Amino acid sequence: MDKVTEAIKRLNQQGARQPRVIIMGAGMSGILMGIRLLNAGLSNFTIYEKTDRIGGTWRENTYPGIACDIPSYFYTYSFEVNPNWSHRFPPGAEIQRYFETVFNKYKLAPRTRFNEEIINTQLIDGQWHIETANGLNDSADFLVAATGVLHKINQPSIQGLDSFEGPKFHTARWDHGVDLKDKRVGIIGSGSTAIQTIDPLSKLVSKLTLFQRTAQWVFPLPDKAYSATWIKLATRFPFLGKSLYKTYKFLFEKSMGIAVTKPCLQRSILTKLCHWNLARVKDLELRKKLTPDYLPGCKRLVMSMPFYSAIQKPNCSVVTEQIEKIESNGVRTKDGQLHELDVLVLATGFDGFAFMRPMSMQGLNGLTLDDAWKKGPQALRAMAIPGFPNFFMLIGPHSPIGNHSLIAIAETQTHYIMQCIEKYMQGDFDFIEAKQQAVDDFYTSVNEALPNTIWTTGCQSWYLDDKGIPGLWPWSPQQYAKEMKVANFSQYHLTKA
Ligand code: NAP
Repeated sequence: MDKVTEAIKRLNQQGARQPRVIIMGAGMSGILMGIRLLNAGLSNFTIYEKTDRIGGTWRENTYPGIACDIPSYFYTYSFEVNPNWSHRFPPGAEIQRYFETVFNKYKLAPRTRFNEEIINTQLIDGQWHIETANGLNDSADFLVAATGVLHKINQPSIQGLDSFEGPKFHTARWDHGVDLKDKRVGIIGSGSTAIQTIDPLSKLVSKLTLFQRTAQWVFPLPDKAYSATWIKLATRFPFLGKSLYKTYKFLFEKSMGIAVTKPCLQRSILTKLCHWNLARVKDLELRKKLTPDYLPGCKRLVMSMPFYSAIQKPNCSVVTEQIEKIESNGVRTKDGQLHELDVLVLATGFDGFAFMRPMSMQGLNGLTLDDAWKKGPQALRAMAIPGFPNFFMLIGPHSPIGNHSLIAIAETQTHYIMQCIEKYMQGDFDFIEAKQQAVDDFYTSVNEALPNTIWTTGCQSWYLDDKGIPGLWPWSPQQYAKEMKVANFSQYHLTKA
C-alpha cells in the first residue's frame, strides 16, 4: 500500500471528514479512481456511466482485429497484473473482460449508476452538482472526469456519404449484423484501426479496398501467444507477471517515450525498424504507395506485423487517388474511377480534443468550460483548470499519451488526486483550484518544448489541434511521473469555505 493510501486510512480512523466524490465514466481511468478511493477506505463516491456497461474504449470498439498496441503485461493496472493474458497484444474482448474482472473484484457495481449520461455539471455553493440525461441530480465535494480521449467519432465530410446504399459504419460502431463474407469492402482511413482490421477482413471478404489519404509507418512489434505453461507459472508466481510489467514499462519508457520527444539514438533505431518492415512489401509500386513522407512517430506509430503481408494479398488493394465523392454503389475517386463496394467502413478516427463533450460545465462565477477553453483545452499538468475548483481530469489535455500505456498515466494522475484528497481530509482547504499563473507557466514550457517533439515534424494527426499544435506532454512519461509524484500545492489556490 502506498503512503498516501495509508495516510488517508489513518485520517479515516481518526474520524477526519470524508469527501463525497463523483466520477464521470466507468472506463479504465474511472474504475481506477474508484479503486483508489476504496483502497483508502473512502466509499462515499458514485461512478456515473452513460451506457449499460463498463469498459470505455474497449466496450465501444469491437471491430475485427481490435487489439491493444501496448503489450498486455504493461497495459494493465500495476496492482492487478493478469497472468491469463493470451497474447502479447490480446484482442479487445479480452481486455474488456480484464476490466470487467477487476471491476467485479473491487465490487464497484453497487457504486456505479449505469445508463446515466451526465449532461451538465455546475459548481453551486461549493458543491459540484451533476444532472443526467434522465433528469437525475447528485452533488459532491470533488468531481473527477474519467471520460476518455477518443470517444467522439470523426465523421468525414465527404460528398455523397449518405447516398451509399449498402451497409456503412464507423469502426467504433461496428455492425456485427452485416455478413462480410465474400463481399466487396472499402475502408476509408489508414490509421491504427484500419491497419488492425485489414488482416482479419482480408481473410473474409472477396475484395478489400483501402482508401488511403496518407500512408502510415508501421512498427514491427511481433505478437506472441503465451503458452499454457507460462500462464500456469505466472498464476502460481505473481512476481513473474510483475517483472514483465516492469520490463515492458522500462522498455517503453527508454525507447518510445524518449524517441518521440527529441532526436536521439532510439529515434534512429525506430526509424530503421519501420523502414525494414516496409521493405517486406515486395511490389515496388505498392511499397511506394505505402511509404509515408514524414518521420516515423510523427503520427501515433502503428504496431503491426500482419498488415504488410495482408495488404499484399491478391484480394487487397490500396487506392491513393483522392476521393471525389461517395455514390450509391461505391467510391468515386478524382481520376473518375468508380470503386464498386457492397460495404463501406469508415476508419476515420476520432476528435482528440472533445474532452467531456457534449456535456456542459460551469465553474466559479458561472465560468463555462467553453469560455475557459476558448483557446483550446488546457489544464495544469493535464489535470486541473483555473475556475474549476475540486475538479480533476484523468487523461486530460497534454497528458503523455504518445505511444505509452494510458493506464500508467492514469495511475500517476489518480495518485495525485489522492494526495489532494488527503490534504482536504486534513482540513487544510475546502477548495483547491489551479492558479492561472501556474497554468500559464506550464504552457510556456510546453510550447517551448513541443517543437523538439516528433509530432511537429510535418504530418497531420489527431494529436494536433486546429492550429497544428499537439495536445500532448512534450517530455518523457518518466518526467511526468517524477513531477507528479508529490503534489505541488503552491500551484493551487487553497481556500476555506
Ligand atoms: P486515426 O489514426 O486518426 O486515423 C484516421 C484515418 O482516417 C487517417 O488515415 C486519416 O487520414 C483518415 N481520414 C480521416 N478523415 C478522412 C477523410 N475525410 N477522407 C479520407 N481519409 C480520412 O484513427 P484510428 O485509426 O481510429 O486511430 C486513432 C487512435 O486510436 C490511434 O492512434 C490509437 O491511439 C488508438 N487506437 C489504439 C488501438 C490500440 O491498439 N490500442 C487500436 C486502434 C486505435 P490522414 O492520415 O490523411 O488524416
